[in-house]
Amino acid sequence: MAETKYIFVTGGVVSSLGKGIISSSIGKLLQARGYNITIQKFDPYINIDPGTLNPYEHGECYVTVDGMETDLDLGHYERFTDIQTTKANSLTTGRIYKAVIDKERHGDYLGKTIQVIPHITDEIKRNVKLLGKQNKYDFVITEIGGTVGDIESLPFLESIRQLMWELGDNALCVHLTYIPYLKAADELKTKPTQHSVKELQSVGIQPDILVLRTEKHLGDGMLRKVASFCNVDFDCVVQSEDLPSIYEVPVNMQAQGLDTVILKKMKLPVGETPALGPWRKFLERRKKAVKEVNIGLVGKYDLQDAYKSIRESLSQAGTYNDYKTVITFINSENLTEDTVAEKLKGMDGVVICPGFGQRGIEGKIVAAHYTRTHDIPTFGICLGMQMMVVEFARNVLGYADANSREMDEKTKHNVIDIMEEQKNITNMGGTMRLGSYECVLKQGSRTFDIYKKEHIQERHRHRYEFNNDYQKEYEKAGMLCVGRNPESELIEIVEIPGLKWYIGTQFHPEYQSTVLNPHPLFVDFVKTAIANKKD
Ligand code: GLN
Repeated sequence: MAETKYIFVTGGVVSSLGKGIISSSIGKLLQARGYNITIQKFDPYINIDPGTLNPYEHGECYVTVDGMETDLDLGHYERFTDIQTTKANSLTTGRIYKAVIDKERHGDYLGKTIQVIPHITDEIKRNVKLLGKQNKYDFVITEIGGTVGDIESLPFLESIRQLMWELGDNALCVHLTYIPYLKAADELKTKPTQHSVKELQSVGIQPDILVLRTEKHLGDGMLRKVASFCNVDFDCVVQSEDLPSIYEVPVNMQAQGLDTVILKKMKLPVGETPALGPWRKFLERRKKAVKEVNIGLVGKYDLQDAYKSIRESLSQAGTYNDYKTVITFINSENLTEDTVAEKLKGMDGVVICPGFGQRGIEGKIVAAHYTRTHDIPTFGICLGMQMMVVEFARNVLGYADANSREMDEKTKHNVIDIMEEQKNITNMGGTMRLGSYECVLKQGSRTFDIYKKEHIQERHRHRYEFNNDYQKEYEKAGMLCVGRNPESELIEIVEIPGLKWYIGTQFHPEYQSTVLNPHPLFVDFVKTAIANKKD
């Protein structure tokens, strides 16, 4: 396509309506029509990136191939569309301001007064167009975090207003709002949507398409009412009802012609409706998978979104094994030798989750010990892998004080140690070992068997690592180091052969598992958990 088209996705009334899912669905549907797409997110908070945020704030921190710590919506973008996002796909108010302030200090503005308009807005616009300019994309979909009416969203909305004016038919705005249902009155209410659109209009943006989130089906009359009150064509009002799975949203949006109206509005040929074959096949398989496999997530963040990508990866892996994955969160802070048997009861497999800091690690060690000695399939990810290693040192190698340097700086048996290049870093943001690195798998290992290849690329986010001084001792005692980075020699994977499934990865495989390309480690882990259940 000669010119890149831009789609802006805004939200109103309340947050958590699923702008990320709608953006991903639009991307998916356009992709199915042969367009090259990318999706970017602007977050209005001042942090440079979400890397320093506690997961309780905005959920999981997702990591891109190029090592950007981003909002979890980027995970949805990748899982739905199989695109690879980069740091150009994730921006915050903090990053925008930093870029402008750095330029100011550098003297780039030649003595001008630096202001929100035009300097901040120009920087926002530059970052939207940057993706288009690389000219690979037919569509750039830009999701604006937060809700219309927030003070901090204003510079982003002003930038969109300008861009829509400049780009004409090459840009449009999809606004996602909410239609609440009042039980006492047994009525669905459109007023909040009308207000939210007015709010958008008051900053000079007329939405082209409205997506109405609703818990109950909306009749044509209601859609017509919203259309006429909000200056939007009737066929440009679609509803997004609660569905059993987020993966049904693209199909539901297609059935209502969301992609068709986008194409019409942008003066592009509509053509035939794509069949979405593989996607529908996945949904079919998912519906049929009713037998349950129970996976315990041992972690410390008692919040759905904190382990989003792990949950999604497990759920996809369930479908590919024709089972439904039922995930139980198990708070590691409540896990002790006395409680572990009870808490892990009924779990066919256990994931020991990533994390930072001391809180809850002893529970992870207890879990690793219990699952190892009871041969329950176990998958340790990042900190989870590190705690498997610590447990093994304490209970098999006989080093009662073994620990990670992160938790105990003085331990004599620092089986997990700080990486050399991390030692002198004091800045907290973006300074870990981040992003994609190569890993070479040991032929003949279980992990090699699973990947069926020697060279893999996986994404990382850590400061600490397996201490190679102990490798021989571990291998002699039965825990093998089966994946390593060819340049740094960092140990990336440990496994215990002979057990049903006891594998720990220093990297995060969950960032690469998508709907149509589930991650082999998760698929194999769930498969083993199912076999374990049958035993
Ligand atoms: N805290 C550990 C480290 O920094 C593990 C990090 C993680 O689980 N992502 O190495």
